[in-house]
Amino acid sequence: MADRDGKIWMDGEMVDWRDAKIHVLTHTLHYGCGAFEGVRAYKTVDGTAIFRLQEHTDRLFNSAKILRMQLPFSKEQVNEAQKAVVRANNLESCYLRPLTWIGSQKLGVSPKGNQIHLMVAAWAWGAYLGEEGMKRGIRVKTSSYTRHHVNITMTQAKAVSNYSNSILANMEATDDGYDEALLLDSSGFVSEGAGENIFVIKGGVIYTPDLSAGALNGITRNTVFHIAKDLGIEVVQKRITRDEIYIADEAFFTGTAAEVTPIRELDRVEIGSGSRGPLTEKIQSAFFDIVNGRNPKYAHWLTKV
Ligand code: PMP
Repeated sequence: MADRDGKIWMDGEMVDWRDAKIHVLTHTLHYGCGAFEGVRAYKTVDGTAIFRLQEHTDRLFNSAKILRMQLPFSKEQVNEAQKAVVRANNLESCYLRPLTWIGSQKLGVSPKGNQIHLMVAAWAWGAYLGEEGMKRGIRVKTSSYTRHHVNITMTQAKAVSNYSNSILANMEATDDGYDEALLLDSSGFVSEGAGENIFVIKGGVIYTPDLSAGALNGITRNTVFHIAKDLGIEVVQKRITRDEIYIADEAFFTGTAAEVTPIRELDRVEIGSGSRGPLTEKIQSAFFDIVNGRNPKYAHWLTKV
């Protein structure tokens, strides 16, 4: 990934992709305190636009606040940086990765005295869980790893360190032949996927875990709340057990990378008909209408680059 042409925005400057480097004694590399975002830009009917840019930037600043990191840039600068990176790399649609980290002035657990850095990269990235998965649904396994407890790490921060738990869960599931992992909270209730929020549909009602289960406050999750309201479908946030998913009519994951991905199986138990459900398909298609600029109601969520 490092050896390619292109530009990366790094601490206020556009640098060549191959030169966007940091020192091995970078604090975040050793102790894992850093935060990032995953953002997408789509080729809309009206040109390339970043989806819910402000909300992603707001969450990045919230993550930094939770982690006691003082970002050396304003939100406006971070928004502009993201737009500039898409333009500089001539991307029509892409994934964007803003990341903030603690520098290499000193090591030791206390980061005090270190510089805070920020970069934004962007590259073309198709369906995160595969094109086929978007149509047929994916196969998911309940992880043997528990999702973070809300007072062990900070689950509302999109913190770099939170992802070691996601990586373990994802590797376990994919090594066993599944597409993705589902993590339960420390009480055994459904939390989220390794990099996705989860939704289940039963009797025409949509259910999703409330955030006390340690799930990230996903921006796609929020987008689905709006879509469901428009479709006249009720959304209930509540504690969910894994067996409620086994007997659900439909289930799907949401995320900036995963978009709206149907789930057809959990732990080898078929969900509903064992393929993408009809309401999931409706939500998926409403989602792609919005991100591709085909729904004027949500034009304000699209920032042209
Ligand atoms: N949970 C986790 C752990 C994630 O990494 C992501 C992806 N950012 C999500 C949920 C979904 O969040 P969003 O819709 O904002 O991308």
